[in-house]
Amino acid sequence: MRKHQKKCHRRISAAVIFLCIGAITLAMIGSSSGTAITLEQSEQQETQETIISHSGSGVSEEKMISVTRSDGTVDTLTLEDYLIGVLSAEVSPQFYEEALKAQAIAARTYTESKLQEGQPLCDDYRCCQAYYDESQRRERWNERFDENEARLREAVTATSGMVLCYDGQLAKTFFHSTCGGKTASAEEVWGTPYPYLVSVDCSWDTDAPRYQETVELSVAEANACLNDGVVYCSASPSEVPVVKSQTASGRAEEVSYGGTQWKGTDFRQKLGLNSTNFSFEINDGVLSISTIGYGHGVGLCQHGANGMAKEGYTFEEILTHYYPGCYLETQS
Ligand SMILES: [Zn+2]
Ligand SMILES: [Zn+2]
Repeated sequence: MRKHQKKCHRRISAAVIFLCIGAITLAMIGSSSGTAITLEQSEQQETQETIISHSGSGVSEEKMISVTRSDGTVDTLTLEDYLIGVLSAEVSPQFYEEALKAQAIAARTYTESKLQEGQPLCDDYRCCQAYYDESQRRERWNERFDENEARLREAVTATSGMVLCYDGQLAKTFFHSTCGGKTASAEEVWGTPYPYLVSVDCSWDTDAPRYQETVELSVAEANACLNDGVVYCSASPSEVPVVKSQTASGRAEEVSYGGTQWKGTDFRQKLGLNSTNFSFEINDGVLSISTIGYGHGVGLCQHGANGMAKEGYTFEEILTHYYPGCYLETQS
């Protein structure tokens, strides 16, 4: 259990569809404005379907790419080194090998989509993918740096050039930490259906560190978080939020609280909750909200992937489980 800390953002990974076969003109990305796009902008981006044709092969792992950091500086590095930085921020280097490879392919596919669209890369997970540079990795890993670095480099090089496709296009490789037993469809989270971003069972993530979490906040705090300067919520100290409807995967679609019907995703975002799979309790004016899972729930479940790898599944089996109907393609 943790005390509630106001968190304004939730985890989002967005990707855009492109054709898998064809040349990519990789524009060297210079320094962008250095400001991450807002949550609202990124959500709009996520729900857009941008399909751009191109011809030729993929982005070479040796090609230099640029990543704008949160302080406005730009790191220029190879795709391979960038993917190691993404993996280091997205998953534990102690994950099983096949799970690391699956994550490497999901991250590569996502990155290539961005590059093909000519969008800049940054290290903000709400806009692009989380990323740690080498000095951050050294600081986090200390004496395990060499071992961890080698594990991630192996996952990236063993899958060199591999991307995930659906029907001749790069797949939208959304991923998240922990689905909590069942992934969510893109349609139920963002309103846009994709044939391979559908809900699938996942029985492999129950050991995830954030599988279940309870936050406590006073009703006054809940009202303040939900109001954002305008009074939408006027819950009484005895009111318990009610899940009015559920999505196909069992997450909260609509929550009734304080005189307002909230979309489950808005309720989660405003209160900084781990997922939309909530349950509620109230004791002496303190609202306890328990969540199962961590993240939006769409696409690859990182901890589920690790559980699958532990049971002996290959990276291909992991990817085709979480992105059914997709297939691997290796770009030269
Ligand atoms: Zn970005
Ligand atoms: Zn899962």
